[in-house]
Amino acid sequence: MVRELRCRVCGADDCRVLCDTPNHVPGEQKTIRHCKCKFCGSVFVGTQFSSCDLTNAYAIMDMAAYYREIEKENNRKMDVAVEYLLRTQTRFANILDVGAGLGLFLKRLADAGFTHLAGHEIPLDSPSPPSFPGNSYSDHDYSTIPSDHFDVVTLLDVAEHVPEPQLLFDACYRVLKPGGVVYFHTPVVSRSDRIMHFLQRLPVVSRIGRIWQRGRTSIYHLENYTPQALHHLLQKAGFVDTHIKQCNELSWPVSSYVRGYLIRPTGLPEWLTPPLTFILSPLLKSSFFNANKAIVSSKKAD
Ligand SMILES: [Zn+2]
Repeated sequence: MVRELRCRVCGADDCRVLCDTPNHVPGEQKTIRHCKCKFCGSVFVGTQFSSCDLTNAYAIMDMAAYYREIEKENNRKMDVAVEYLLRTQTRFANILDVGAGLGLFLKRLADAGFTHLAGHEIPLDSPSPPSFPGNSYSDHDYSTIPSDHFDVVTLLDVAEHVPEPQLLFDACYRVLKPGGVVYFHTPVVSRSDRIMHFLQRLPVVSRIGRIWQRGRTSIYHLENYTPQALHHLLQKAGFVDTHIKQCNELSWPVSSYVRGYLIRPTGLPEWLTPPLTFILSPLLKSSFFNANKAIVSSKKAD
């Protein structure tokens, strides 16, 4: 139990349990325990998943269908990242995309004129592994990636998936040249999250808070950081000059959140999806209430 409640970012023990929800992904763990660190504020999955559970969870995902469903939102996210790289780098910058998936972002970078590209992905049990523009690295611990080699490492929605975030940022630091930059997008705790954490403690409405939490942290999203937590991880890895911009960024159309996290789990009729989407859109798309994403850049000292 103690290990369940230890913060993976700052190492604090005795983190607060927010709530438990069922784990709908087949595996050893039937319940997901959602926790919040009292020190750095990170919200995380305290349940210890085996590497087998994690591998299976991704193996049962239809990645092509997933990327089709999130295409519009994903394109918007990649546009922001390409614009940043065009503004700060030359077309000859050595860029490594970690968590490259099907290589969609690398293809966007190639289309934008970048010529020195590489991708990293964990080994996938797939008959036709994705082919990236440029070099491709595949391992579980980043050990095949050369040290002091890249001008930029990008991680678009990757840091929330890893069980040991410090190892990820230590590896980013190692593979960057001095003066190189890590650039990433990752979910952070928003005002909406904090309201829902409060609801989770109340009778009657606690179910609303649990449904919300199920959409925020799961076997796929192990961590929602805070700016304080991100500063901690990056400083510990050795990075300096960290810039964090918190903004609203949705990974799915609002109707998909309503259908997947509200209508189906509660058994409400499907026809309620459009009116509930209309009602909830202002909240979910609000930069004040739902600044749920951090866009971060940080530098390896010269
Ligand atoms: Zn912490």
